[in-house]
Amino acid sequence: MDLNQTYRMTKQRKIIVDVLKKSNDHPTADLIYQKVRRKLPRISLGTVYRNLEILEQIGMIRKINSDGTRMRFEFSSEEHNHIRCTECGSIEDLKIDCAPPLGNISEESGYEVIGCDQEYYGICPSCQKKSQKIA
Ligand SMILES: [Zn+2]
Ligand SMILES: [Zn+2]
Repeated sequence: MDLNQTYRMTKQRKIIVDVLKKSNDHPTADLIYQKVRRKLPRISLGTVYRNLEILEQIGMIRKINSDGTRMRFEFSSEEHNHIRCTECGSIEDLKIDCAPPLGNISEESGYEVIGCDQEYYGICPSCQKKSQKIA
């Protein structure tokens, strides 16, 4: 593979990264596509997917494998955990650190640990309110 080609920040990739920087709701590829299309009307969903893959490979963005159905993405920032609502599917960042230090994991497993991708799930505050209204 031509490395220059892979690492080149094309206009498309720049716009995709911009869209992700501005969204804090961990959008799906479809949602990203809809937003990117406002700036690049002729871009295809396939191109958006391909660019998302490349951006993820070079570490510019992170892929979140939520509930195994749809991939969600976010702009790469510090390592953090996610909490997902099982009712509406929204994903939020968890500011608290619930994981043991990576050093302990290395000792335990013998692995050189480079990250951790934990997901918590539950019912978000707004869904809790909704179910209270029905009850
Ligand atoms: Zn919810
Ligand atoms: Zn996040």
